[in-house]
Amino acid sequence: MEGSLTLLSALIALLAGLAIGKAWERYKLKDGRWVDRRRGRESPHYILGLNFLVANQIDPAIDELTKAAELAGDPLEIRLILGNLYREKGQVGRAIQEHQALLQRPSIRKLEHANVLLCLGLDYKSGGFVDRALSAFTDVLKLDPDNRYALSNLEKIYEEQHQWEDAYKTRQRLAALDAPEHQAAHLAILGFLENERGTQALKRMDYAEAAARFEAAIELDAANTPAQLNLGDVHFYQGDVTAAIQAWERLVERAPDRAYLTFTRLESAYPKIGGPQRFPDLCRRLIAASPQDWRARLALARHLAGQGEAREALNLLFDALVHNPHALSVHQAIWQMLSRLQLPTALVDQYIDLTRGAIFYADPHICVRCRYRSTELLWQCPNCHEWNTFVEERIAPAKDTEATL
Ligand SMILES: [Zn+2]
Repeated sequence: MEGSLTLLSALIALLAGLAIGKAWERYKLKDGRWVDRRRGRESPHYILGLNFLVANQIDPAIDELTKAAELAGDPLEIRLILGNLYREKGQVGRAIQEHQALLQRPSIRKLEHANVLLCLGLDYKSGGFVDRALSAFTDVLKLDPDNRYALSNLEKIYEEQHQWEDAYKTRQRLAALDAPEHQAAHLAILGFLENERGTQALKRMDYAEAAARFEAAIELDAANTPAQLNLGDVHFYQGDVTAAIQAWERLVERAPDRAYLTFTRLESAYPKIGGPQRFPDLCRRLIAASPQDWRARLALARHLAGQGEAREALNLLFDALVHNPHALSVHQAIWQMLSRLQLPTALVDQYIDLTRGAIFYADPHICVRCRYRSTELLWQCPNCHEWNTFVEERIAPAKDTEATL
């Protein structure tokens, strides 16, 4: 990922350099002789260097481009790429040196200056110098306010630093530069950033601010699941159980596959407003709507077990097991029920039959963008930093897979 980004930035820098290069004076006095700047790009070294670059062979690319640069009197765009290649190799110090030297050139133009700063920002970022990267990207935007690459790098840094408000403003600037058909994706990300701001307010126990942020997140993107969940929590902390239930039920309605996030909350909230049957009813509705919903079965089984209906609970758990044989929580609940029923041989045998052939696995949540695996559901991928990319991987017996497809 990092490699292809660097390659991309090198190519972008290259294209920008080519465009700028046209406006440049063609000749330059170097070591007492006139050098044709164009010769650098026309030389076989330059083309060879680019070929190695495309093939991701960095060392020979550096060799050839260095020769091409020398031949043409060190044009800025080639030195810029060379700096990027040093960064790609992990020689961050060398990359910084290359790029800083370019900033010292007296004839540097505004857009070139912005390009060099952008590359320098990437050097700092990959070297872990967060503050310096931040100020480099900020400086790029002073010279070139619509630089998307600087904006998106800046946003990621703000996110890593948990400066959610700054990240939000940066995403707004990115959204403003984009076409109408891409706005939905921006709104979804803005929703997650609002949700993070709300979570921060919640930690400070500033309930009014937290509720406002969660509502804003839902306003931006009605499908934002964590904001629905958190909004319900805020209402609950404020003592408004009815409003809390409404928020959690809205989550169930809009994202039934994430309904399980509300289960323990709703199970304890319903009796407070005199609706003890509403929780089992909700689970049954979810199971009917989505027969593979093993979590609704587990929740209903636990609920029924709490009311002494161990046998019916066990049937639900066996069903849940068929749909997800790898959920440890289902196995635990089954053993609890079996133990409560004093291990009836027929039921234990049924359990053994059901589990035969199940392949156990860990880390069921997987990022659809970068394949990062996680044991828990995450809203932002810690690897590729994308929002809302996790799906749950389930490995079920073949006959079950066919049945649910
Ligand atoms: Zn990812």
